[in-house]
Amino acid sequence: MKTIGLIGGMSWESSLEYYRIINEAVKEKLGGFFSAKSVMYSVNFEEIEKLQHKGDWQAATELMVDAAQRVERAGAEFLLICTNTMHKMADEVQAGISIPLLHIGDVTAAAIKANGQKKIGLLGTKFTMEQDFYKGRLQNKHGIEVIIPDEEERQIVHNILYDELCLGEIKEISRDKFKRIIKDLVSAGAEGIVLGCTEIPLIVNQEEYKIPLYDTTELHARAAVEFALS
Ligand code: GLU
Repeated sequence: MKTIGLIGGMSWESSLEYYRIINEAVKEKLGGFFSAKSVMYSVNFEEIEKLQHKGDWQAATELMVDAAQRVERAGAEFLLICTNTMHKMADEVQAGISIPLLHIGDVTAAAIKANGQKKIGLLGTKFTMEQDFYKGRLQNKHGIEVIIPDEEERQIVHNILYDELCLGEIKEISRDKFKRIIKDLVSAGAEGIVLGCTEIPLIVNQEEYKIPLYDTTELHARAAVEFALS
């Protein structure tokens, strides 16, 4: 079994989910007392969130590379960055370490393609929805067409993420807002929806939807287990 490396804390609400899903998946596969070998370096999200909203991606990148190196030194054999947004600097992180990075976008794309889908709606932080590092990877590397909500809806999603979910608050009114925004994406032709922020699955559940939802937290965590056991 390979030792899984995780950069967590973005936010810790979703890092908890990674830890739970990874260990549950190992137990499902191997049974008994089996659990995952893992190391997590958990950052202070206050620092990260400030740099993101200031647009200081250089400092944020340095922080991520430093975190990745700490995880490698702690004995991890491959690395997960437990957030979609901070895959913005995935290339720099990979260049700074000698263990492989398991990219959340690639894992998600594999699930979309396995379902035979070609056009998806993307929900995430404004950085993830608007910039090219994530959409571009799905489109150019994997041939998946990506549509995003309109500007007003993007702001609503972003605010729910930072003002509520990353702080551990689940509000019914926000669950309803997600429903409306997902409905609009489906009307615009989305065949499935990527929950492209690791906190969204805390409030949006597959049981309430007919179309496939791609839970990036679950997909990423389970892919880590597959890789660790391969
Ligand atoms: N966890 C979130 C994501 O998957 C947002 C927090 C962050 O900015 O890293 O994008």
